[in-house]
Amino acid sequence: MTNPRRPWIRQYRTGVYIALDDLLGEPILADLAFRQDDVLLVVDIQNDFCPGGTLAVPGGDQIVPLANRLAERFPHAVFTQDWHTPGHTSFASAHPGKRPYDTALAAYGEQVLWPDHCVQGTRGAEFHSGLDLRHAELIVRKGFRPGIDSYSAFFENDHATCTGLSGYLRDRGFRHIYLCGLAFDFCVKWSALDARREGFAATVIEDGCRAIDLNGSAAAARRELAAADVAIVTSARLAA
Ligand SMILES: [Zn+2]
Repeated sequence: MTNPRRPWIRQYRTGVYIALDDLLGEPILADLAFRQDDVLLVVDIQNDFCPGGTLAVPGGDQIVPLANRLAERFPHAVFTQDWHTPGHTSFASAHPGKRPYDTALAAYGEQVLWPDHCVQGTRGAEFHSGLDLRHAELIVRKGFRPGIDSYSAFFENDHATCTGLSGYLRDRGFRHIYLCGLAFDFCVKWSALDARREGFAATVIEDGCRAIDLNGSAAAARRELAAADVAIVTSARLAA
């Protein structure tokens, strides 16, 4: 595949492009030619995950401009929205004697208990006001079942209850999922792992993410992603 305006851009391997001007060290993102079966998944860029929110990810709001640029440049974009019922089982407040970041044993395994966040219909659950939703072809809500959490955009935390996203992406003919959003070591990681499990190629755009980094979870996430053959790139290197 070539870009008609920049014929020296050629496909290097699926979804990854190399350009002569990249080799010369000049900016390359502006004219990237993505494939039509590439889709950007923008994960949970919501007020409660940004500074000032109840479960703020450090620097979470800093990725908004890049997420906007990526959503504009990718041929397709899907957004996710954490969307909990009041008193959700993932909230520490729902477990007497527990505090945020403690764990509890759920039917589906260990569950980290979080501060109340992204409660349906609240300002905290709304997308960051700077996030440009014009390019969202689908918004997937997750975590709306009171008794089960959902980090992944594909499956809830029992790894069995599906959100329907796989079917949607498959029906649309998408093959390669690029991810950005919050948080790198939880919802982005689990979404990327499940993308692989569902047979899609997956690439995490790391500077388009921020991590919570709870007890070394960011480094662990990097290892898990690598083991699952998920590529981790920076936006500037997408074309390398
Ligand atoms: Zn949540």
